[in-house]
Amino acid sequence: MIGHRGRGIQELLERLQDGLKRVFVTERPVVISTSSATGLMEAAVRNGVGSGKVLSLVNGAFSSRFGEIAMACGKETELWTVDWGRYHDPEQLDERLAKEDYDAVTLSHSETSTGVLQDLESIARVSARYPGVMLLVDSVTGVAGTEVRTDDWELDFVLTGSQKALALPPGLSFGVASEAMMDRSSVVTNKGYYFDLVPLMKALEASQTPSTPAVSLLYALEAQLERIRVEGIENRWSRHAAMQRATIDWVDEMQAEGVGVDVLAPPGYRSPTVTGLSLPDTISGPEVVAAMRDRGWVIGGGYARLKEKSVRIGHMGDHTVANLTELLEALGEVLR
Ligand SMILES: *Cc1c(COP(=O)(O)O)cnc(C)c1O
Repeated sequence: MIGHRGRGIQELLERLQDGLKRVFVTERPVVISTSSATGLMEAAVRNGVGSGKVLSLVNGAFSSRFGEIAMACGKETELWTVDWGRYHDPEQLDERLAKEDYDAVTLSHSETSTGVLQDLESIARVSARYPGVMLLVDSVTGVAGTEVRTDDWELDFVLTGSQKALALPPGLSFGVASEAMMDRSSVVTNKGYYFDLVPLMKALEASQTPSTPAVSLLYALEAQLERIRVEGIENRWSRHAAMQRATIDWVDEMQAEGVGVDVLAPPGYRSPTVTGLSLPDTISGPEVVAAMRDRGWVIGGGYARLKEKSVRIGHMGDHTVANLTELLEALGEVLR
């Protein structure tokens, strides 16, 4: 360990910025929070929403959590819910934002509970037409696994966690706030203390943190950011896209054999980091997960209401097409 005040930690925090900026494709400082990603979802709401309303785009468990967080923070929250496994249409968002005033829109870029990828670039283009609306983006399974261009897309707050596509131990989360978001935060009251972005950003300017960071996790982050620099962020996105293609090709092959497996998310809206699969009637989600575990593989169960009928494969982080292909062979055996 090194002390959390002093040259050593300042130099470490300074070194981390370059790598983090590459991951978020931003010139803005990247806030490092000692919390899981849910903490920064709360920060998004507390700093980005004043006395106005929140429009919360809900299409699964995590986007639903974002809406719950807004409500738990005492914000007036309108849920725009579509079926789990579906996505939100940017044109309909435009209509909603034209009709009513909101302080912020929340969404999950890659909805990990289903494997749906929202069209974030188009959604951001719409939201940019409404300068008073902060676009608050949970990109926990987006950032570092699929294209996210924080500055180009004018995202007001985009966040991720350490343990998803960054493939780090849990315990840290990362977020970027636009200038507009910081302006909003500076006039919002009742932000609480720990997640107030104003002191977090102020400390960051001096390569410090307001409270003690998880120093050992920062060492891990430094090592991983170097690996990401060597791979290249766009190559990292491509590797994830290739893993997604391998999964979908495998589904096509299974179907050609008559096995009733399918991808939950519609074409064009499939996350490169996680695929939700609907299962044939002959086998349940928990049975598939258990059979895979017997073969030495860990896959995700279906989330909440999708538990019985689906499973999820997290093809993110440092995984490769080669080891994913082995996993899919095992899964094929189980389903056959
Ligand atoms: C995992 C996840 C979260 C929650 O992250 P924690 O680190 O558990 O707080 C939020 N949103 C999405 C899309 C996730 O995948």
